[in-house]
Order: sequence, then structure tokens, then C-alpha cells
Amino acid sequence: MLIVNESQRLLAGVESLEQRCHYCCKALAEYPLILSDDAAQTVYHAACAVELATDILVDLFTFLSPPPPYTRLFVLAPPEAPADASRESVSRGGAPGKE
Ligand SMILES: [Zn+2]
Repeated sequence: MLIVNESQRLLAGVESLEQRCHYCCKALAEYPLILSDDAAQTVYHAACAVELATDILVDLFTFLSPPPPYTRLFVLAPPEAPADASRESVSRGGAPGKE
């Protein structure tokens, strides 16, 4: 969530712009700030949030598509549905009382 004023900052639990950014450890100092939506609800400088997200994306890309000679450890695919599951969901799709 974007934080652009004092009331939003206070709602995010940041009492002062003197508090430190969890990414770069410098004072938050000025708006805009970013409140992460994880359980800790961490507040970052907007630029630090972009840098952190980019780092995560690069790490994920390397993990899912490693350069040669390394091979991929995982292939993401939807789980196989049991043979009867699709038939059952179709039969439940009608209006109640019409079966
Ligand atoms: Zn920062």
C-alpha cells in the first residue's frame, strides 16, 4: 500500500519519519513510502520496495530457469485432479432439487 501522508503513515504504525527503512536502514524521511502486505507490515522507501521486489524476481527467475550447466530443480504444474473429481463438480453445478 502506498503511504503519501501523515494519517496513512500513523495507520501503518510508523510514528515518525525518523524511523528507519528495513531495507536500507536510512530514515524514512519523506513520502511516498510503501507498506508491505506481509504479516510484519514492513514500511519501506518506495525506491527500496522496488529494489527488493526486483531482487526477489531475479532470484525467482534464476531458481526457476537456471543458466547452463545447471538443471531445473522444479517444474511448476497444476496438480492432477482425480478422475472422478471433474464429473462430481459438473453434477453439483445444477440448481438444487433438479437432480
Ligand atoms: Zn530504504
